[in-house]
Amino acid sequence: MSAIDSLPPLRQVIADHGLSAKKALGQNFLLDLNLTAKIARQAGDLSHCDVLEIGPGPGGLTRGLLAEGARRVLAIEKDERCLPALEEIAAAYPGRLQVINGDALEVDPLAHLTPPIRVAANLPYNIGTELLVRWLTPKDWPPFWQSLTLMFQREVAERIVARPGSKAYGRLAILAQWRANARIVLSLPPEAFTPPPKISSAVVHLEALPEPRYPADAAVLSRVVAAAFNQRRKMLRAALKGLAPDIEDRLISVGIAPTERAEQIGLEQFCALARALQQG
Ligand code: SAM
Repeated sequence: MSAIDSLPPLRQVIADHGLSAKKALGQNFLLDLNLTAKIARQAGDLSHCDVLEIGPGPGGLTRGLLAEGARRVLAIEKDERCLPALEEIAAAYPGRLQVINGDALEVDPLAHLTPPIRVAANLPYNIGTELLVRWLTPKDWPPFWQSLTLMFQREVAERIVARPGSKAYGRLAILAQWRANARIVLSLPPEAFTPPPKISSAVVHLEALPEPRYPADAAVLSRVVAAAFNQRRKMLRAALKGLAPDIEDRLISVGIAPTERAEQIGLEQFCALARALQQG
């Protein structure tokens, strides 16, 4: 019998440990182990990787990651009620699961991980975007992670993979696509979760690029993109006028019409504009 078969079904785990879902912790659990194994497979070959999981809850995805061969899983869970269930999984996979009881926004996991590292999580929705932005904006590139395989509300997933010209296109798309390949790999209806959330969800897989797709200074690019999308209905010459007195000339110098709006500008052009602005 494999380790996964020796563990009780997740519904029983939840009943045994009294894990009634808490809304404040974003608890929508995945109880179908076929589904959690499928999500784990989207994370790529885990056999030589440490996997960082945020919010393991009763451990459905954790079990998927271990059964799919993760070398080690480091799981950070805020709700201490989940710890006994996670200990049972650790016992079934000796030496391969470490659990930290803490807040993922505060714990620094790096001391506990050995590269190569992949991240996989069914994230609590209230901190998902914040964690993603942190992982996409480290001090140095490449980042500590090779890939991120993350569950989001469908609408957030669409913003991550959005292309120019769409309503979903904005800062998150540029941040994600500048230094990673990002795609939606699975869509899940509310009924896939217990309890079902109000909205649909999707799993996004991001692979870190060895270096940015186009050269640009991260801070300058971030300022340009923030200014452009903070006033996304305005023409760029107006939205960006605080960045340089001669913004119209700078836009023209990189082939952007000053009358265009942020939504129409691709990543390559934003990077070119960031470089032009940095030239002083
Ligand atoms: N991974 C489990 C699954 O797929 O069934 C649970 C996913 S549930 C959407 C989110 C999990 O994150 C919950 O277990 C919740 O307790 C945990 N959580 C919420 N806020 C957290 C935080 N700040 N740090 C770590 N874990 C958190």
